[in-house]
Formats: sequence, structure tokens, C-alpha cells
Amino acid sequence: MSRKIIFATGNENKMKEIREIMSDCGLEIVSMKEAGVMTDVVEDGDTFEENARIKALSIAKLVPEDIVLADDSGLEIDYLNKEPGIFSARYLGEDTSYEIKNQALLYRLTGVEKERRTARFVCAIAAVVPNHPVLTTRGTVEGYIGWKPAGTHGFGYDPIFYVDEYHCSTAELSMEQKNAFSHRGNALRAIKEALKKQGVLEP
Ligand code: IMP
Repeated sequence: MSRKIIFATGNENKMKEIREIMSDCGLEIVSMKEAGVMTDVVEDGDTFEENARIKALSIAKLVPEDIVLADDSGLEIDYLNKEPGIFSARYLGEDTSYEIKNQALLYRLTGVEKERRTARFVCAIAAVVPNHPVLTTRGTVEGYIGWKPAGTHGFGYDPIFYVDEYHCSTAELSMEQKNAFSHRGNALRAIKEALKKQGVLEP
């Protein structure tokens, strides 16, 4: 059986979250850097799942003995036909600051009432396990786009994404609070259960 899980990211916050969630699975969890694998992947899929799968499969070619997990995530705004969606990181250009991206999205929702400002963070995770079919799971968090940015925690679209339960943006929550219900956390917990069902992880 494979001994390691490699998570295809260079992002330390994501590594912390996955280590916490997978801490009881009995396998070592390492980042791409820790595993010594580096590759540029062109994410040209049409869905979050396809992109996560493309990423995981291309890394898995370099480490055929190990389990590889990869994620793809983004923000869907219903009023904007689910934009920026899979283009969340590339919206208005990869190098454009999130201050500008967030202001642009707020502007596009000018005059739109709360009921039609619904949005969600989506995360798809793909798992490539030697001699198993590729698994994918999806996690989401429902919320709405506020009227102004708020908060300094988190990253990306967090300052404009509000959750009803807390009456604030996800940038106003601590990392622990956000991780407890995050799209990535939900997708990770689902992939852990799927891997257990397949007998890859201990029950
Ligand atoms: P990736 O999956 O790491 O490529 O992330 C895609 C993009 O989606 C990020 O660059 C952010 O713009 C956005 N995004 C994904 N998850 C979050 C989140 O939890 N908060 C804020 N923005 C997010």
C-alpha cells in the first residue's frame, strides 16, 4: 500500500488544513515541495473537478507509488452566471490585486438586492491512488456578496463573501472558524471518507 499522500499545492495554509483533517489517516502528508516534485500544470478543464483531476494526474505521473491529492477552487456568483468560477484566480488577470477584483465584482452588483447576491465557494478535490479509479469530491460554502469589503483574515475573495450564520465576511473570521465549515474542508472530509470506502485508508 502507498505510504505517502502528496497534496499538490505550494500553499502552506492549505497544507495546514489538510494535515489537520487527515491527521487520523495513518499516512504521512507532504506538499509537492517536500516530496521534491515540481511541475507546471495547464488547468484547461471546464469544471473544478476536471481541473483538480488534471492537476492530480500530472503530478501522479512523477510519483507513481504515492497517493496524490489536488484541489481546484473558486467563487461562483449566481447573479453573474457563476462568474468568476473556474477563472477565479485569473479574473481580470492573474496579477491584478484582489482589492481591484473585489471592487470590480461589487460594482457589477450595484443595486442588486440581497436575495439575488447569493454566491458560494466551491472546492473540488481529486485523488489519484495507484491501481484505483480517480476519485473526485466537491465541497461548497453558501453565502452572499456583501456591499463592501470587510476583514483582514483569509485571502482572495474572503472580504466580499459573507455568511449569514456569522453576519460577517469570511475575512472577519479566524482561520479555525472558517476551516470548520470551509468548502475545502468539506471536500477533504468527503475524499477521506471515499478513500476509506475504497479500502485505501484505514476505517
Ligand atoms: P486555487 O484553487 O488555489 O487555484 O484558488 C482559486 C482562486 O479561488 C483563489 O485564487 C481565490 O481567488 C479563490 N478562492 C478559493 N478559495 C477561496 C477562499 O477560501 N477564500 C477566498 N478566495 C478563494
